[in-house]
Parts: sequence; structure tokens; C-alpha cells
Amino acid sequence: MIRPIDTSFTKILPLSSDEALQRRFMILDETIQANMRFGLLLEVLDKVAEETALCYVNRFFPEARVVTAAIDNIAIRHVTDMTRDVHFNARINHVGRSSLEIGIRVEQPGDPVRHIASCYFTMVARSGVGEGATSVVLPGLEYREEIEKQRAAKALKRREEYKQQQALLREPPSRDEFEMLTELHAAQDNPDFKGLLAGQLTAGAWERMYPEQENVPKKIFGGYLIRRAYELSSICCEQVAPNRPIPAAVNRINFFHPVRMGDKLHYTTRVVYTNGSLICVEANIERISRDRTTKALSNSCLFTFVNVDDQLQPQPVPQVYPTNYGEDARYLAAHRSCQALSNHRQLPGPVTAAELSED
Ligand code: GDP
Repeated sequence: MIRPIDTSFTKILPLSSDEALQRRFMILDETIQANMRFGLLLEVLDKVAEETALCYVNRFFPEARVVTAAIDNIAIRHVTDMTRDVHFNARINHVGRSSLEIGIRVEQPGDPVRHIASCYFTMVARSGVGEGATSVVLPGLEYREEIEKQRAAKALKRREEYKQQQALLREPPSRDEFEMLTELHAAQDNPDFKGLLAGQLTAGAWERMYPEQENVPKKIFGGYLIRRAYELSSICCEQVAPNRPIPAAVNRINFFHPVRMGDKLHYTTRVVYTNGSLICVEANIERISRDRTTKALSNSCLFTFVNVDDQLQPQPVPQVYPTNYGEDARYLAAHRSCQALSNHRQLPGPVTAAELSED
């Protein structure tokens, strides 16, 4: 039987020796800290996850392909050093009926090794195209070593936690949460209120999908979509960040509906929540089919940024105020998601953010 270690896949970005590649990944043509385009990194991650999953799936089903279903949280541990190579070490952690969890450790070798992030992708194996596509049933992996068993167990736990979080969204807020929202509404009733209204902190964009972006037959490469969603989110975020917002975490990305060539895409990004130096931006992508008969939410993403100064020290961000029911719900969802991340020590608190730049 196949073990997780047999599914290992590594991709290297040779930033130290390939100047054109280094330039492609830079935000600015200057030597600033945190100069890596995180959106492009997401694109690479999605491709690495796809290749790792496909290698396994094609051993049994040569014609099958894989699609990204979700990206669980990604905590960014350190900023990337643009003069060092980036290694993506990927491996399958768990195989379910037709889904696979791929874990990817992103690091920069050297002394010491710089750990950039650990990411978890849920991929689904499919066969056939269009409406006739079906999920394929995959043979399982053998988890022999302790670490393999632990990673497989953690994959199941992540899935369970997400389900629980979703179920919680349909529940009324707790007493503390209700009080938090009541205070935010009461502040807006004050005649001298000058706060930032969440409803006004948005950015949108439209785009048509061309054959250039084709990945699996007739579908659009998911990595491209999330890169675009991230880049618009970072622009949106600048409406509230007094300094420079840099990515701190991906709370969650869901892929609901595939995007096809000829589709029109409507990206909507909104600042939904702030807390201390953190800013949460939600990005949704709606697809409209070429014949304009189908409209569906294809992706939803929640990104957390941290507002930092030139030395990467976290700086405070103003409070944002939700006004209507939808904004309250989004505020609360982001609040809970950030709490879950900080409970797992995955969000920069005052101390860990200061370590972002540390070698
Ligand atoms: P963990 O998931 O809690 O063990 O966190 P890590 O940061 O150690 O690793 C993240 C993911 O990257 C793991 O779940 C593995 O799927 C994958 N991974 C970790 N180390 C390696 C490695 O040495 N080689 C390969 N190919 N993949 C790795």
C-alpha cells in the first residue's frame, strides 16, 4: 500500500539564482522587507497541491483530474527573504472517499531554515467533463509512522472543525458577541459618530475568462482566481490600514462552482472586521455564464492582514462598524474565525508579529 511519504512532491522557486523569477515575485522594485507577492504564492501553492494530488489519483485513474475544494487556514510565520530560494514540500496527509488533504510546508533553506507557512488543501478527484463529471472513489493510504497517523488525524480534525464553525454560523450569537455588536450599533447612534462604516469599505472588479486561463478541460485555473481575489482584497484593505497591510493569514477559501471559459466574473471585496492591528477582508467571486443564464458564487475567501510600519512592527487599525444584518453576520464570522486562529496560536499577537522579520 502507498504511504504518505511516497506521495512527496517538492517544488523550488530559485529566487537566489533566477533574476527574472525574483522580479516577477516582487511587490516593489526596491529592497523592502516583506516584498513577496503573496497572491502569486497562492497561485504556486494551488498548482503544487494539484500536482501532488494528481500524481496519486492518476496511479489508479489515468483519465481523472483533481479540483480544489477548499484551502484551510494558512498562517504566515515569517516574511519571505527575496534573496533565498523558496521550497514547497508537499505530501498527501489523508485520503477520504474521493477527497485528499494535501499539506504543504513552505520554507527557505539556510541556517536557520526560515519557515514561511504551512498550508492544507482539500482536493477532489473527478472524472468526465461538464455536467457528466463524477467523483471517483479512491483507494486509501497506509498510515504507518506516528507522524503519518498524526497528520491524518489532524486532517480529519480540520474538516470537523470547519463543519462545526459552519453549524455555529446558523446559531444566534453568544451573550458576549451580542453585547459586542450592540456597542458597535450604539456608537453609530451618537450624533458625533465619525467611525468607519464597513458598508463603505469595499472594492469590486469585473473580468472575463479567456482560453489563456484554461486548466482542466474547459475550466479556469483556481490559483489564478484566488490570486486575483487576494490582490483586490489587499487594495480594499488599504482603505482602513493607516500604514502598510501585509498578509497574516488565510482564514479560509472555498471553491463552490467551477469557472468556465467565457464566464464573466464579479469580484467583491469588503473589510468585514478589524481588531488591534488586524484587518479581515472577505472576497467573493460570482460567475455569470456566457449565455447569461447561470449566476453562482464560485469562490469565497477570508484573508487577514496585519498593519505594520517599515520595521514590520504591528500598528493599530481603526475600528470598523457594521450597520445592517449582513454586515453583522460577516463581522461575527470573521471575529470567530480570528479567535479560532489565535487559539491555535496562528495569528500574530503583539509578540509573534514582531518576530515576522526575524531570521
Ligand atoms: P504539520 O502538518 O503539523 O506536521 O506541519 P508541518 O509544517 O511540519 O508540515 C505541513 C505539511 O507539509 C505536512 O502536513 C506535510 O503534508 C507536508 N510536509 C512536511 N514536511 C515535509 C517534507 O519533508 N517533505 C514533504 N514532501 N512534505 C512535507
